[in-house]
Amino acid sequence: MEYQGMRTLEKLGVHNALTDEVGFRGPSGIPQIFRHWKTDQVVSIDTHTNVPNPRHHTTRFHRGHLHSALLEHVPRESIHLGKKIVRAEADQGGVSLYFEDGGNAHGDILIGADGIRSSVRQSFIPDYKLRFSGKIFMRATFDASLVAGKIPDLPADSIHWWGPKDNFFASRLGKDQYTTVGAYDDPRSAEEVEKSISWDQLGNVEFLRERYKDWNPTVKALTELTPSTNLYPNFAGDALQNWVFGPRVTLVGDAAHAHGGAFAAGGSLALDDSLALGLAFKEVFSSRKATFSARNINEALGLYSQTRQPHTARLLGIVHSQIDKKGTIFATGEEEDAALVARMTGRPNTEWLSEHDAEAAFDAVVEQLEGAQRQVRLARPETKIDRDIQPQGSKL
Ligand SMILES: Cc1cc2nc3c(=O)[nH]c(=O)nc-3n(C[C@H](O)[C@H](O)[C@H](O)COP(=O)(O)OP(=O)(O)OC[C@H]3O[C@@H](n4cnc5c(N)ncnc54)[C@H](O)[C@@H]3O)c2cc1C
Repeated sequence: MEYQGMRTLEKLGVHNALTDEVGFRGPSGIPQIFRHWKTDQVVSIDTHTNVPNPRHHTTRFHRGHLHSALLEHVPRESIHLGKKIVRAEADQGGVSLYFEDGGNAHGDILIGADGIRSSVRQSFIPDYKLRFSGKIFMRATFDASLVAGKIPDLPADSIHWWGPKDNFFASRLGKDQYTTVGAYDDPRSAEEVEKSISWDQLGNVEFLRERYKDWNPTVKALTELTPSTNLYPNFAGDALQNWVFGPRVTLVGDAAHAHGGAFAAGGSLALDDSLALGLAFKEVFSSRKATFSARNINEALGLYSQTRQPHTARLLGIVHSQIDKKGTIFATGEEEDAALVARMTGRPNTEWLSEHDAEAAFDAVVEQLEGAQRQVRLARPETKIDRDIQPQGSKL
């Protein structure tokens, strides 16, 4: 979790996720370190630019530990497990969810936070399709004692090793866990991959070891000590232009921006979405004390969508351009290596992503709308229509 996610956890009051017990911060304080697959040399790093609080430094969590920290802030009775949504509906009067078990639920607002294969999103955009990036990730989390002290020169920091085609990532996590992530290309179509590999399916750890057997001794040893690995076919979807469906429905997290985990930004983006959504509700229902009407709900959701859509659309643009890039065939190993080093040293600066300030972006959207409303009033005498100026963000 990068800076923006850590700061947002603090803003949301989830202080229990900021401890060194729950998350791991590398001893060097360098957020991203990139090493060469064969030589093991550090080729490139990212640094924190404007992150004065060490608690906000890039932190690596086991997903379940972050969930537990968040759960401490949610009343247990408001969580209903085992309720798979098959369909969502909305109209001016309210929203409805229909579950696989035949049950249903109704309410005032629907916030679809159901991940990259969101059923809520699919209910409102039935022809939305994910695209297979061509990569399958092989990921493992296990007790750090399996590798600690067992590999000479094992870096204490989290490391990305970049190879000509694939990368390898290894890191300590909070609560003495450790993670390894490898990848391979799968030339099959999205449909074939979907049919043959399910999300989180157990993979073949021997295949992981075989893929990385010619890498530097540290990576090789890490694959040998990784006890098992699970598979995650990598998909991404196009940016949605508008995150508001009808007056009362929106999306957060991967459901809203199906970026497939690129730049390890998904957790932070989902938290920033939540912060912006909370700020939008506060702005409309607390600061302006608006009534809880469909129109005002729609206005709050519009503020949220306008805050988050442009930021995540920029990321999705990068993700799709990376998928579109065809692999270059090199005449010699030297040429291939030179291209790899050039790619590593020429990585685009992603500070706009890792140090993005969602609250400042939200304030800018509010200010811009207020400015536009002032302009309308100045241009002609105030009328009732001006006072009730239409909220942005909804097509309905
Ligand atoms: C291999 C891999 C590595 C990654 N590494 C990182 C990383 O290092 N850092 C990082 O920040 N991000 C990483 N990501 C991305 C990150 O996991 C996601 O961006 C993040 O989990 C999105 O959170 P979310 O709450 O939107 O969706 P999810 O975490 O996917 O949660 C969606 C929830 O909705 C539930 N759900 C789904 N469908 C339904 C339905 N029909 N009915 C009811 N419930 C449903 C699911 O069970 C799940 O609980 C990685 C992703 C992958 C695949």
